[in-house]
Amino acid sequence: MRLSEYFLPLLRENPSEAQIVSHRLMLRAGMIRQSSAGIYSWLPLGLRVLKKIERIVREEQDRAGALEILMPTVQPAELWRESGRYDDYGKEMLRIRDRHDREMLYGPTNEEQVTEIVRASIKSYRDLPRMLYHIQWKFRDEVRPRFGVMRGREFLMKDAYSFDLDAAGAKRSYNKMFVAYLRTFARLGLKAIPMRADTGPIGGELSHEFVILAETGESAVYCDRAWLSTDILATEVDYHGDLEPIFQRWTGLYAATDEKHEPDSCPVPREELVEARGIEVGHIFYFGDKYSQPMGALVIGPDGETAALEMGSYGIGVSRLVGALIEANHDGAGIIWPESVAPFRIGLINLRPGDTRCRDTADDLYGKLLGANVEVLYDDRDESPGAKFATMDLIGLPDQLVIGPRGIAGGTIEVKHRRSGERQDVSIETALRLLTASEPGPLAASAPGTKARRPGRARSEGGRKGPRSGKLQDGERPIPDPA
Ligand code: ATP
Ligand code: MG
Repeated sequence: MRLSEYFLPLLRENPSEAQIVSHRLMLRAGMIRQSSAGIYSWLPLGLRVLKKIERIVREEQDRAGALEILMPTVQPAELWRESGRYDDYGKEMLRIRDRHDREMLYGPTNEEQVTEIVRASIKSYRDLPRMLYHIQWKFRDEVRPRFGVMRGREFLMKDAYSFDLDAAGAKRSYNKMFVAYLRTFARLGLKAIPMRADTGPIGGELSHEFVILAETGESAVYCDRAWLSTDILATEVDYHGDLEPIFQRWTGLYAATDEKHEPDSCPVPREELVEARGIEVGHIFYFGDKYSQPMGALVIGPDGETAALEMGSYGIGVSRLVGALIEANHDGAGIIWPESVAPFRIGLINLRPGDTRCRDTADDLYGKLLGANVEVLYDDRDESPGAKFATMDLIGLPDQLVIGPRGIAGGTIEVKHRRSGERQDVSIETALRLLTASEPGPLAASAPGTKARRPGRARSEGGRKGPRSGKLQDGERPIPDPA
């Protein structure tokens, strides 16, 4: 994508309404635009990130055996009367009347809707277990919408629902989702810690919240320090096998939200206990027959007996994750996207669009990268080098390729790794080879035969210093300070 043809409405000033860094950066980087309180339009750059998150969430749901459907946003009130939640849900529910004066609502969640679908078609234990999910907009008329997409009124959620014959089956489904969640967040580059949680208005017996640590988190959380050095992706997962050992292992390490944390009976010694703020990015529930019983979602078991379905529900805040990812990945200059969700893999900067050699080299490299399916945002605009560097740092693409007259004279371009701030000069061939390798890593750190420069040491093409926080290592997830 050429920046000259893109829609990237950057803000120069810090928007005064934004209290936390992710909200500020999303507005400044032209990712979203507020429509009304807690309701946003997603602009091209923001939408690319949202779609990438959605894709990882979808892949892990599919892998766990859940089947994707798409339920409506607008639901009939009568379904919610069947479960008894129409009155219970209160003011958070946006209630609507259609032209025939029928009561409708904009779905805050979908337990009733999905139970209706399943009760109409699943009658026998032979059709169980099943897990269904969708990725759909929700509306909750929050008392205090704030922090941008982190606590919106309209927000995108992945919600899955499991249906089993008995409690043992329901626990197996719960375990699948539990493991799928750990994998999903790890692939997003986040350390999301499962914490025993209250079930709230969804109801039920067993529940975990997945929480990432961040100073701007809304709740106080406590966990064993050992959590900070775990790696779920190192664990082999067989969704057809017994997942209980994995569940036990990952719930064996202490972690609790402040509602569940008891300082006096906490098993972790003080010096090993991390006290932090957390952002809830996912929440899973096992609630048995809470909906199936009143709604009459019944199946016949192998013994000929009729029983209400055993159910669970499993939510991920897809749009909240965009903000949460920025809370966990930024520095003073802007966002630092993990590769898995970066809107583009590479930012290509041509420092001198007026110079024929620079332009030809940049155009050629751009074409080759596109040809190799590398997602690249090409700054071909007629702007000052300083403005171009600042833009690229703000929008946080993992690597920057900088083309300028000095490098071209020596046959090189400059590569800057956004997270470490490391820069080095490489030949165009080397850059291309590294980028089109099957699993491209951070460019600046891996190019052979060249010496990496530490941020700020050497003058770069544009003569700018590297970012202030050059200390972060790849893969390290610091608890960010609000900028
Ligand atoms: P919270 O405690 O943050 O209000 P919740 O417990 O009401 O959330 P759930 O019903 O568990 O939310 O919804 C599943 C997921 O949807 C949450 O874990 C969260 O990531 C996301 N989510 C919930 N409410 C919002 C919101 N207002 N804006 C953005 N994401 C949300
Ligand atoms: Mg919750």
